[in-house]
Amino acid sequence: MNVAEATKIEDKVHDDSFRDRMVTIDEKGKRKWIYAQKPRGRFYNIRSYVSWVFFIIFFGLPFVQVQGRPLFLFNIPEAKFIIFGKVFWPQDFFIFGLTMITFIVFIILFTAAFGRLFCGWVCPQTIFMEMLFRKVEYLVEGDAASQKLLKKSPWTSKKIFKKLAKHVAFFLLSFVIANFFLSYIIGVKQLEKIISEPLAKHLGGFTSIALFSGVFYGVYAFFREQACTVVCPYGRLQSVLLDRNSMIVAYDYKRGERREKFKKKITAEIGDCIDCFQCVKVCPTGIDIRNGTQMECVGCTACIDACNKMMQAVNRPTGLIRYASENGIANGKKLRYTGRMKFYTVLLVLLTGLLTILLASRKDVDGTVIRAAGMLYQERGTDSVSNLYNIKIINKTIKDIPLILKLENAPGRIIEAEGRPIAVPKEGQGKGSFFIVLPNDLIKERKLKLEVGLYSGGKKITTLTTNFMGPIYRPGSK
Ligand code: SF4
Ligand code: SF4
Repeated sequence: MNVAEATKIEDKVHDDSFRDRMVTIDEKGKRKWIYAQKPRGRFYNIRSYVSWVFFIIFFGLPFVQVQGRPLFLFNIPEAKFIIFGKVFWPQDFFIFGLTMITFIVFIILFTAAFGRLFCGWVCPQTIFMEMLFRKVEYLVEGDAASQKLLKKSPWTSKKIFKKLAKHVAFFLLSFVIANFFLSYIIGVKQLEKIISEPLAKHLGGFTSIALFSGVFYGVYAFFREQACTVVCPYGRLQSVLLDRNSMIVAYDYKRGERREKFKKKITAEIGDCIDCFQCVKVCPTGIDIRNGTQMECVGCTACIDACNKMMQAVNRPTGLIRYASENGIANGKKLRYTGRMKFYTVLLVLLTGLLTILLASRKDVDGTVIRAAGMLYQERGTDSVSNLYNIKIINKTIKDIPLILKLENAPGRIIEAEGRPIAVPKEGQGKGSFFIVLPNDLIKERKLKLEVGLYSGGKKITTLTTNFMGPIYRPGSK
């Protein structure tokens, strides 16, 4: 290959004009429907097995209960979250926030190293679209070519039947997914009630199911790959998360170019790409991976399978499209652990450590004690003074707790305003009022720091602190 030809290839490979418009939009701004061919090959088979594991987890998890409560619950309306059976309240927000930050750092690190491995292999959107809805579509309408023919054909009874069957199946699947999705928010027991009890009792629940079903149906029947290429924020972030050392699905242009239709006679100028477009035809986002890294690539590996099949057919080595880094393709460098990845790893280790400490020291029962607003102190006879307090307790356990309060760091008394222990229901909140009574001779300052111990069944649960206000009694004063 002479220099002029090599330059031409480089120019072609690095011609970025294709980035000026989306593959799924035509010149008139209309949607171009993607008819992706069914992939066949090793990666597709492994992804199918992974999807089965995903389905088992997604549809099975809501039924897993730990001590009578779900393993996971993300009840956003009531600000109640259960993660691995542990209840998190708004008061645990900082733990939740830190978990989110740790998760984001993990995503950044993972993406810097492995690109969009998550999108292609375990993202629910990709799995539901490619491994469920697309498979149903192939089953009802046939492969890509048959789907195109069906689209162009007149509205015969056969076409109406096929379209109706597909959309009914799509809606039913969306309805099932919506129910399970909702069970992650309200819990499977509440969902059972919505399903089994009269509609009038659960109007909100029914509306949510209908809304989610509609959204899922809209996404999988019509919006499809646009969820990844236009809406998904993770997809949009790829341009800043990836670098030239990240692992991506890449076309080896050094080996593939100059592409030319298959000829039995191979010359030195011809690359291994036989320009068969199989990699483009199977792509669910409609892109040509030979143009280079693109944000629309969800790393589904369909093009790897398609190209490997073609390479085997023409007796050339497989791996023309493969997992590699841009540097790997351009300079023959191996995937490596870069300085940026090391920095993220240190950050991740620190955050995980902090999170572990916070989780280990997290209290199952917590609360606040504050002096009743607008009240100073009350004199009790001639020898003591009292303050009135309000207490709010959160019980994150699954047992009701009757609480006894004890003064920990002063020889005073606590008198519950209602004359009985404060009851705190399981996974709920309790509140009450009480007096702290201190003898006059103990009050040496206007403001005293006191500790109130919370006891249940003779066992101390936690200690809360508060202030006591009183007059200063000096020896000789009344
Ligand atoms: S380019 Fe390949 S890996 Fe990327 S989305 Fe298309 S088929 Fe999947
Ligand atoms: S499938 Fe392989 S050989 Fe065919 S066009 Fe794509 S890269 Fe070239």
